[in-house]
Amino acid sequence: MSAPELRLTPQRRAVLDVVAESDDHPTAGQVLDRVRERVEGVGAATVYRTLALLVESGQVAELRLDEGQALRYDQNIHRHDHLVCTGCGQVQDTHVRLDADALAELTEKMSFTVAGYDVQLHGRCARCVAQDKAKESAQ
Ligand SMILES: [Zn+2]
Ligand SMILES: [Zn+2]
Repeated sequence: MSAPELRLTPQRRAVLDVVAESDDHPTAGQVLDRVRERVEGVGAATVYRTLALLVESGQVAELRLDEGQALRYDQNIHRHDHLVCTGCGQVQDTHVRLDADALAELTEKMSFTVAGYDVQLHGRCARCVAQDKAKESAQ
C-alpha cells in the first residue's frame, strides 16, 4: 500500500526538489533559504508545513541529531546510518553495515533482541582531520 499522494503545488514541488537535491541533510531553515532562491515570496510556514507533509507521506526522512539541535531533512529514505562531524557539523550518509556477529553478541549479552538500528557515529570528517593536522604542524 502506498502513502496517499501529496498534491504538489509549485511551492510544495520546490520544497521537494530542494530536499531531493540536497545530500547535506539541511535544517528546515536551510531548506527555506534554498526554496526562496527559486520561488519568490514563499512563506516559512508553507515550507515547514510542506516538510512535515513530505515526512508524513514518506517522501522525505527526518533526522534527529543531538538533543536541542534542529531536525535535519534527508532525501535518502532507505535505511542508512550517519557520520556526524564534531568539528564542522557535517552529516554524511554511510552504508557500512554493523557486523552480524556484533548484533548477535548484543542480543546474547544484553538479552535484547535487535529489530533494527539507526546509528550516528560522531567523529571528525576528512576535511577537519586535515585542518587539525595542519594546525598541529604549524605549532
Ligand atoms: Zn568536519
Ligand atoms: Zn542520511
